[in-house]
Amino acid sequence: MIYADNAATTRIDEDALNLMIELQKKFYANPSSGYKLSRPIKKILSESREKIAACINAEPQEIYFTSGGTESNNWAIKNLSVGKNIITSSIEHKSVINSCLAAKNYLNSTVTFLPVDKFGRVNPYDLQEKILPQTKIISVMFANNEVGTIQPIKKLAEIAHNHGKIFHTDAVQAVGHIAIDVKDLGVDMLSASAHKFNGPKGIGFLYAKKSLNLSPFHDGGSQEFSLRAGTENFPAIAAMALALEKNCAAMKSYAEKVTACTKILVKRLKESNIDFIINGDENRLPGHLSLSFKDIDGETIMHRLDLKNIYVSTGSACNYGQVKISHVLKAMKIPEEYVSGTIRVTFGRDNTFDDAEKIADAIIKI
Ligand code: PLP
Repeated sequence: MIYADNAATTRIDEDALNLMIELQKKFYANPSSGYKLSRPIKKILSESREKIAACINAEPQEIYFTSGGTESNNWAIKNLSVGKNIITSSIEHKSVINSCLAAKNYLNSTVTFLPVDKFGRVNPYDLQEKILPQTKIISVMFANNEVGTIQPIKKLAEIAHNHGKIFHTDAVQAVGHIAIDVKDLGVDMLSASAHKFNGPKGIGFLYAKKSLNLSPFHDGGSQEFSLRAGTENFPAIAAMALALEKNCAAMKSYAEKVTACTKILVKRLKESNIDFIINGDENRLPGHLSLSFKDIDGETIMHRLDLKNIYVSTGSACNYGQVKISHVLKAMKIPEEYVSGTIRVTFGRDNTFDDAEKIADAIIKI
């Protein structure tokens, strides 16, 4: 089989998996207990926090472990927006959009959605125009999960700060794949999820700058600096830290490999004279290809590839099963005759050039 849906999730790194199993077996004490059995667990937790912080140039005490990207986004957005204005883009992941809408419905907030151009880019001038005195937080994703477009995060954060606003980025698709330096970017908060960078599922983190006055997301015990209570899933946390460390160390070579895979696929499709377009900006996630084929249904392509044991998606995996055109492609105004023929092929570190050739062969046949 060929798995080319790495934006939906990635296969867990073998060392991270083994570490997680070993820790589950060996250390079953509660990390918060005072006896010596818990000491190594506390150490593993703080070392994991340090490793993750080092990968994004943060301070360890600025890393809060969460259950993944969805929780990190909910926390970042709902926490500080009560009764205030939130600015976000129109192509965010549902976990951001629906957090904003929940804040609007239940927390008396207002929401401003920024448009994107046909490449899926937010224009910094649009942000500049839309900032209101009552705006509290601006949340723009680092890289889009459907088309891979990378946003001008540094510039957007600078505009936010010039107006005294807080800037959050959903970097779930970017962390572990693109070099990220939170200090250089100037972001105040950043969300990440382990299963997108060859870590386990159900674990992630929120980076939040020390100076931010976050209130607790989970009330309870004193875990996560008393802001996110609940016994820590430390085997998964340690596995996440290892996976991120490994991906960051090999980032350049993985990026080169997956980019070469996308080039092979595109070249073959072009040579076969198939009528298709590539969505998203040139500056996009490595290995990420959103392709729209003229006058054919993306669902049909996906199912026929499935029959050949080739796994791709028709947009975002979270939209799987819905035939309606995604809000991202709609916002980008992809031409009507192409838009419903969209598939997303996302190569990961396990893919080979041969996989790219085989996917091309299969699509050409279909
Ligand atoms: N944000 C983006 C951009 C995503 O692609 C995803 C997952 O698809 C999420 C957030 C949600 O992350 P998680 O699956 O860890 O909840």
